[in-house]
Amino acid sequence: MNPPESIPVGLLGATGMVGQQFVRQLDGHPWFRLAWLGASDRSAGQSYGEATHWVQDLRMPEVVGGMVVRACAPAADCPRLVFSAMHASVAGPIEEAFARAGHVVLSNARNHRMDDDVPLIVPEVNPGHLVLIGRQRGGRGWPGAIVTNPNCSTITLALALAPLRGFGIRRVVVSTLQAVSGAGYPGLAAVDVLGNAIPFIGGEEEKLATETLKVLGGVRADEDGVEPHGAVVSAHCNRVATVDGHLLCASVELGARPSPAEVRTALGAFRGRPQELGLPTAPDWPVTVLQDPDRPQPRRDAMAGGGMTVSVGRIRECPILGIKFAALGHNTIRGAAGASVLNAELLLAEGWLG
Ligand code: NAP
Repeated sequence: MNPPESIPVGLLGATGMVGQQFVRQLDGHPWFRLAWLGASDRSAGQSYGEATHWVQDLRMPEVVGGMVVRACAPAADCPRLVFSAMHASVAGPIEEAFARAGHVVLSNARNHRMDDDVPLIVPEVNPGHLVLIGRQRGGRGWPGAIVTNPNCSTITLALALAPLRGFGIRRVVVSTLQAVSGAGYPGLAAVDVLGNAIPFIGGEEEKLATETLKVLGGVRADEDGVEPHGAVVSAHCNRVATVDGHLLCASVELGARPSPAEVRTALGAFRGRPQELGLPTAPDWPVTVLQDPDRPQPRRDAMAGGGMTVSVGRIRECPILGIKFAALGHNTIRGAAGASVLNAELLLAEGWLG
């Protein structure tokens, strides 16, 4: 498609861990220009540079550092398209207020992900779920809309499973080793996580089990919601002292019993709608198949495709479920801010933004 002129966008929860990654992802974006920043009342009124404890490994863009942070309430000068990286304890009603006021909200928060009329999108996997926007607008009477992306580990799992749908996914057992950036800032105390692996992340196992099936499911014939995929997912989620990479070890039962070589081929050949459309932040290949038996370059693998590619390796036979592999995704890029920006590009390219 022809690149549109620079479109102003807003960002709710701009000061947090994911908000900062949004600032990075939108810096120099060919279509979107960050024009409005929101955070809590604690930050409102200060410049972004004053309000934010910047933890990114690149410098804060100067122009953003000087912008004034606003309270997260709809305002006349707030652009129509807004990204949301607000804390889940507050995101639900605030996102609704923005959609009611005519904004299209692209949310990272969990609050509305499982609502029947809210699309939960991984653009390569289920772009067709965007039709739910019609039901949402009709049912709720909103001129705007809420569109969500899944939880960070779910996105990595969904991208690794989607290419295998043709083999008939039946059962999945997945164990995660999740980075500390997933806990926000300041997140976990160093004394809790250093030299430790914490075998519990509140609500994460349920999200992996339910969100994955919604993403892999199909829209019902009446476009009234999504019929979840019929597979069963059992998850174990663990927090470990890495910064950004979420590693998932999965065993999968596939009805067609493909060989590891066939699975490797299916994963390596996978491309989706963003690649067809040539969206600006779509990686050429959403899944990279690694041959290395170990992970000599974990940072390189997590940053493949600008952090938007999921790296899958160690594809081999599982004596119990048939196939097993390891998958690595970048937590705050493909798992959060980058996912939302790609959703926005898809919405624009598919004509959902008018
Ligand atoms: P975070 O670092 O704790 O940041 C939370 C943000 O919410 C801050 O900008 C904060 O502003 C703002 N906020 C807090 N209370 C508010 C209020 N009453 N009104 C408006 N804004 C308020 O959290 P995070 O890790 O960035 O996560 C943000 C969202 O993304 C969460 O819903 C999380 O579940 C989801 N998510 C996170 C990840 C990840 O990797 N971290 C991945 C996927 C999804 P102040 O600075 O002013 O307090």
